[in-house]
Amino acid sequence: MERVALLRSLSCSSTAARRLLLRCPKAKSRLFSSNPYRCRPHELRTCSVALRSWPLVPTPPLRFKRGFSLSPRAVSTSPSPVSRENADGGHDFAEKLGFEKISEQTIDECKSTAILYKHKKTGAEVMSVSNDDDNKVFGIVFRTPPKNSTGIPHILEHSVLCGSRKYPLKEPFVELLKGSLNTFLNAFTYPDRTCYPVASTNTKDFYNLVDVYLDAVLFPRCVEDFQTFQQEGWHYELDNPAEDISYKGVVFNEMKGVYSQPDNILGRVTQQALYPENTYGVDSGGDPKEIPKLTFEEFQEFHRKYYHPSNARIWFYGDDDPKERLRILNEYLDQFEASPSRNESKVQPQKLFKEPVRIVEKYPADEGGDLKKKHMVCLNWLLSEEPLDIETELTLGFLDHLLLGTPASPLRRILLESRLGDAIVGGGVDDELLQPQFSIGLKGVSEDDIHKVEQLVIETMKNLAEEGFTSEAVEASMNTIEFSLRENNTGSFPRGLSLMLRSIGKWIYDMDPFEPLRYEKPLQNLKMRIAEEGSKAVFSPLIYKFILNNPHLVTVEMQPDPEKASRDEAAEKEILDKVKASMTQEDLAELARATQELRLKQETPDPPEALRSVPSLSLQDIPKKPVHVPTEVVEINGVKCLQHDLFTNDVVYSEVVFDMSFLKKELLQLVPLFCQSLLEMGTKDMDFVQLNQLIGRKTGGISVYPFTSSVRGKVDPCTHIIVRGKAMAARAEDLFNLITCILQDVQFTEQQRFRQFVSQSKARMESRLRGSGHGIAAARMDAKLNMAGWISEQIGGFSYLEFLQELEKKIDQDWDRISCSLEEIRKSVLAKEGCLINVTTDEKNLSKTNKLIANFVDSLPSTTSRESDSWPSKLSPVNEAIVIPTQVNYIGKAANVYETGYQLNGSAYVISKYISNTWLWDRVRVSGGAYGGFCDFDTHSGVFSYLSYRDPNLLKTLDIYDGTANFLRELELDDDSLTKAIIGTIGDVDGYQLPDAKGYSSLLRHLLGVTDEEREIRREEILSTSLKDFKEFSDAVDSIRTKGIVVAVASPEDVAAANEERPGFFEVKKAP
Ligand SMILES: [Zn+2]
Repeated sequence: MERVALLRSLSCSSTAARRLLLRCPKAKSRLFSSNPYRCRPHELRTCSVALRSWPLVPTPPLRFKRGFSLSPRAVSTSPSPVSRENADGGHDFAEKLGFEKISEQTIDECKSTAILYKHKKTGAEVMSVSNDDDNKVFGIVFRTPPKNSTGIPHILEHSVLCGSRKYPLKEPFVELLKGSLNTFLNAFTYPDRTCYPVASTNTKDFYNLVDVYLDAVLFPRCVEDFQTFQQEGWHYELDNPAEDISYKGVVFNEMKGVYSQPDNILGRVTQQALYPENTYGVDSGGDPKEIPKLTFEEFQEFHRKYYHPSNARIWFYGDDDPKERLRILNEYLDQFEASPSRNESKVQPQKLFKEPVRIVEKYPADEGGDLKKKHMVCLNWLLSEEPLDIETELTLGFLDHLLLGTPASPLRRILLESRLGDAIVGGGVDDELLQPQFSIGLKGVSEDDIHKVEQLVIETMKNLAEEGFTSEAVEASMNTIEFSLRENNTGSFPRGLSLMLRSIGKWIYDMDPFEPLRYEKPLQNLKMRIAEEGSKAVFSPLIYKFILNNPHLVTVEMQPDPEKASRDEAAEKEILDKVKASMTQEDLAELARATQELRLKQETPDPPEALRSVPSLSLQDIPKKPVHVPTEVVEINGVKCLQHDLFTNDVVYSEVVFDMSFLKKELLQLVPLFCQSLLEMGTKDMDFVQLNQLIGRKTGGISVYPFTSSVRGKVDPCTHIIVRGKAMAARAEDLFNLITCILQDVQFTEQQRFRQFVSQSKARMESRLRGSGHGIAAARMDAKLNMAGWISEQIGGFSYLEFLQELEKKIDQDWDRISCSLEEIRKSVLAKEGCLINVTTDEKNLSKTNKLIANFVDSLPSTTSRESDSWPSKLSPVNEAIVIPTQVNYIGKAANVYETGYQLNGSAYVISKYISNTWLWDRVRVSGGAYGGFCDFDTHSGVFSYLSYRDPNLLKTLDIYDGTANFLRELELDDDSLTKAIIGTIGDVDGYQLPDAKGYSSLLRHLLGVTDEEREIRREEILSTSLKDFKEFSDAVDSIRTKGIVVAVASPEDVAAANEERPGFFEVKKAP
């Protein structure tokens, strides 16, 4: 249970933490944020852990931003001040090791001392940040501007982690995933830089990770090994000379997935059109059409040139010994001479246009639906030729929050209320690159309305420049931003890494790396200016300068094209046919042999000596007890309350949980919209703008969402609505008053608002179907296997998308009934009976909140109008394929292993992680060419599922799944590998959590009936896992082969081919 608790808690808490911020979708990401559709950095691995949470909480990919963005923040929540002695590791010591101290600064915002060094021989720059945060972070970043769209930086990012001088095995990265306590391990490719960050709370583990990463980037084997380049980048594949040649490669398929998603295409087209003359005019991730043009020689040369200490910026952060950092670094850096790479990698600015530009681009669309209404339009400005100074950047970030930060923000609100489109595209200000940009537009726009959208954006900006913002709006934005900066809640993302990404955002352009870490002074200055001059004097000039009078405007219109996917497919086939036609029989035989050889290499395990080269901890290094979360259960006026005494820097976090199980079946699918309505409809006395501003002014955010899970050993699922909020302790009373207000006073009368919620939700579900088809498939399988899964799918899966489609048509005729239904949901959920309250803060604040909770509880109705309605059902257990216009597939297979009589044992966590990281990684990703392949065991329901992500195959992947039981039966596992597998599992179970996440996980465990005793037992079972457990588990796994249900989200061609090969295998569903 622990792993699921872990999975749930990891995913729920982190995503729910994110959701909290996402409540005001922009509150988190505004202020110097990355815009959600812009070419996000490519990550080395997909996050399989987030999967389980999927039906419960939408999981936006992590965003990376710098500047004063609301997520990377700097305040430590640790109560004790940092000792600053010896922070620089001793000046002489650094000198002796060849480092020159450039600057030392105390950063109060993160209670840290930061020293910038330069390695004298190579010029490598090192930032050494010391404080008392035990979640230590290391990162090495190279400036890697590409000249074309063959994806060199991205392919290199993947490839350097495939073996190095000291660690000569296929994938040290995977060994680290398997066997370390890391709290973060990944790599990202940006448009102009490549980052390699790791984090751990265990010092020994941390230095192991640092060493493997340094050796990987500086001495990788891939530069001599053509096969790694083929595997990660691209190659021709041919099993037999009679068949067609195909392209394979992990990055190739990853990017095909990216290029299948309309939002991503928009981001790419925009970036390239905004910066036609510098490095941002090409795609560092790689265009699938261009990737096959990349040669091995160019790849080698790129590494030689840019992966050099002279072109590196290195970051250390945390409570470890600063001397040790320099000692480790010097060992590596000293092996290099200075190179001119730093000059060669400089990013040149894009000159501002004299005239606006217009771009029209096609995107692959389904044939169904009204294509005329599926256009997108986005207006994009490049704001400046020079990087902005920090105060202007902060002011611009603030303006961005005012414009778009919450549902009540005028630009967002006016665009959505116009009914010209379904949802917002373009994320406002983005200052992640050398020059900042601003983007805004709509999707789901009718062809004839494109110009109306453009006019509306410009008009709205004009009005705002002329009239200014209300003082309530300014106050709400200021409080939200300040709260977020001081709370510094980075969720499951290490704080030191947030800081690093923020600092790097300037440092990478040779600017001051300390400056982005300090927000206090510019923030105070901005507040003062607003107070003295008024907000209009501060913001209006910016709107004129950067938007209204700025000719560097690129308008991108995207048109749906139902033939684009098959045309791209056909173009690729034509190229491949030509390649084949140009080959002789000998060439073809040779290609088939090389294909075979590559596969053999991929499927041959590393020799034990090589595996042992990757340093690992021993079981002695592992804490024997699970992480303890202090929990006191009290009763306040008849309602159970869980209290967690944890230091939270004076923030009060609280969740109010209501029982949803008495809801009538026909109301279920309205629940997500009910939750949104509570926050975004307004009351008798306040419209929703005022209500939102009040929440922004008084609290750190409130969110409302459904939570559903199976409970092990029980038939009935656990199903709730959770209200989550946070505030400074002094405003806790406001927080509870506001929760009462949204629960009891909100009126469900705003038909037009409701219509917007439906359009937005539909747009969100549609892009999820394209971008996270594995989540859709997982939910669908769960819905066929258990009741909780069915509920989750009804309110967050494919069925929900179908529901929204129908609902949209009914809003006009049936509004009164819908409005009554929302009221009815409130009546059946909102009650003292079945209510549970969770509070996380320190003892002093806990006792103060008791009275507030008492008042809150007293205001609730004591019981609901309950009729029991037997609603839980399941979907029919047939294999299904949901077809979408895509070039890559998502394939799942699942069964309930408890039905075979399997009894949960902690070893299952170790085994399923091992299957993901070995069998599925090797076969589905490495040799199959998919971007990801993994399995997941929901120990509450017993559902064990396999999933693949951006997968070029279909039936082949299912065969790999079916081979898992045999893999386990024949497995040989030495003690070292077993120990690694156990340690890696403990690393997951003990996943790093900030105090609010600890309190929240504890709440979820309470809801799911997981006791501390059980957690201890599971931990003992994990620690004592043996090879015998693996063999025994194979029977449970084999039941998935024989009884499992398959759901694929895939291209129509691949599904048709599969049904031809195995007649009747899939029931085909089209996206609505
Ligand atoms: Zn990648």
